[in-house]
Amino acid sequence: MNIQNLIKGLHHVTATVNEAQEDVDFYTRLLGLRLVKVTVNFDNEKVYHFYYGNKIGSPSTIFTTFPYIDQVVRKGVIGAGQVYETVFSVKADSLAFWEKRLKENGLETHKESRFGFDFLLFEDPSGLKLSIIEDDSDKREPVWVSADIANENVIIGIHSVVLAVEDPGETASFLHDFGYTSDKNDGKFTLLETAEKGAGNSLILLDGSGLPKGINGLGTVHHVAHRVDSIEDSLRIKAYLEDAYGISVTEIRDRKYFKSIYFRIPGNVLFEVATSGPGFLVDETVEELGSSLKLPDWQEVRRDQIEKDLVPFIR
Ligand code: ZN
Repeated sequence: MNIQNLIKGLHHVTATVNEAQEDVDFYTRLLGLRLVKVTVNFDNEKVYHFYYGNKIGSPSTIFTTFPYIDQVVRKGVIGAGQVYETVFSVKADSLAFWEKRLKENGLETHKESRFGFDFLLFEDPSGLKLSIIEDDSDKREPVWVSADIANENVIIGIHSVVLAVEDPGETASFLHDFGYTSDKNDGKFTLLETAEKGAGNSLILLDGSGLPKGINGLGTVHHVAHRVDSIEDSLRIKAYLEDAYGISVTEIRDRKYFKSIYFRIPGNVLFEVATSGPGFLVDETVEELGSSLKLPDWQEVRRDQIEKDLVPFIR
């Protein structure tokens, strides 16, 4: 058995961040992403779970955050064994717009060339490492347009994530088996893609042997999720990883908007495999997305208390 064609590409990236309001302001007002869902962390209902993405939150455009500042969570360390950086893509000739916009808003930026692309690097208010690259081959529709970002400049979705690992050879060998192949090397970076290739379907491995060991906490990415078509595919992947690698994989967890399994890969990065469906339109219309707090049935019964415990924020 092999599972190489089951993973289609990325689904979402989830990070632990500081405050709700500054997070919403940064990702919606500055980066122009749409807040497509407001819910709570299903494992800690005192904490919001924000989902940002394109107009309908298509898989591979979704960046999600847990604003954990008041929950006795320490500041994390970005390092080996983690998602080190999240890369967003824009169309050609947009990078200058973003460089100017970020600088005008007080952010420090710098450019780094990898694989012949310019990456514009910056940090979010919690210290998460982000970047933007121009990728004209990105065929996903940039469907969300905010007032002060022209259509040709909008962020289309997540392009890739940079995984920092201590032994890139070992992790690359696992990722080939998992479905990310066709490497390109550039110094300490290796580019891997699923069969669907390109933006939204790529990982970048970083030789993290000189980095500190990553520690989960505020200002770090918690996990990266990869998309599959069905729960049956998730179960095939679970069986394969347990059998071939002895990796311990969780049972299927119902995340309402998708169903997921979680496990750590060689190199220690936490992976999730999530179904592409049912998606964010199960409890809101396209127009309503993100406009009110949505809770799964098992938490809806405690809505009054949950709402009282959450810090209000302005959309
Ligand atoms: Zn997730």
